Amino acid sequence: MLDINYITPDAEKISLDGLQALGLINPANPDSARNAVKNMIIYADFLIQKNQVMNLTAITDPAEIMRLHFLDSCAPASLYDFHDKSVIDIGSGAGFPGLPLKIIIPSIRLTLLDAQRKRVDFLQSVCEKLNLPGDIQCVHGRAEELIKNINCRESFDIAISRAVASLPVLIELSLPFVKLNGCFIAMKSIQSDQELSDAANAIQILGGQIERVQDYQIPGADIYHRLIIIRKVKNTPPRYPRAFARIKKSPL
Ligand code: SAM
Repeated sequence: MLDINYITPDAEKISLDGLQALGLINPANPDSARNAVKNMIIYADFLIQKNQVMNLTAITDPAEIMRLHFLDSCAPASLYDFHDKSVIDIGSGAGFPGLPLKIIIPSIRLTLLDAQRKRVDFLQSVCEKLNLPGDIQCVHGRAEELIKNINCRESFDIAISRAVASLPVLIELSLPFVKLNGCFIAMKSIQSDQELSDAANAIQILGGQIERVQDYQIPGADIYHRLIIIRKVKNTPPRYPRAFARIKKSPL
């Protein structure tokens, strides 16, 4: 029996139906779907509980949390192959999108990075509650500082980020983490055409190339979001990323 206080059966159904709609449930392995939904419920319940004493999310309704955090976070796995990949979620906050992605694709080797210590402590506690295989690194720090650690640079198959910064800034924070031939995935609103054209210079300087821009619907909601997938085609010059104040003041 799970000790659940906030998540209602309708929210549980939303997550199961949504994963089905995203094509993320393998009918040959119903146990993996059951385990994924169970992990999401434990996580969402703990998120709602902790959100009462710290600022983790502005969304408080359990059904909306399932749709706008969990299903939105899982959607990239329906559009890009994450199996067996090393993934860094930059500015993960309360774990989105990285942790739901790991729940639905357990073979991901996950690093969750955030600049706020309290949020990283929350992530650590959630990971301890969930039944997930393999190591998950919860790292406190700023992307542009952490990258100075030689082991991080150009070492991930995929960097992903949602709701952290405008695209030209985000690309300078994220693309240095990505291996050659890996990719950076930005989760953006469908009103991001201007950001995308503003980022053309940064993408080129930092060794990227736009591979795909794909809009998707969050299951069960009349909301569309966008993935911008940037392939790393050249190494990022070592002088990037610059200090944050510089990135912000003069985006590439
Ligand atoms: N990605 C989560 C989501 O979609 O719910 C959190 C979004 S929240 C609006 C932005 C998060 O990015 C914050 O938790 C903040 O601490 C983190 N952040 C901002 N700049 C950062 C940086 N340079 N390095 C690491 N984390 C950063």
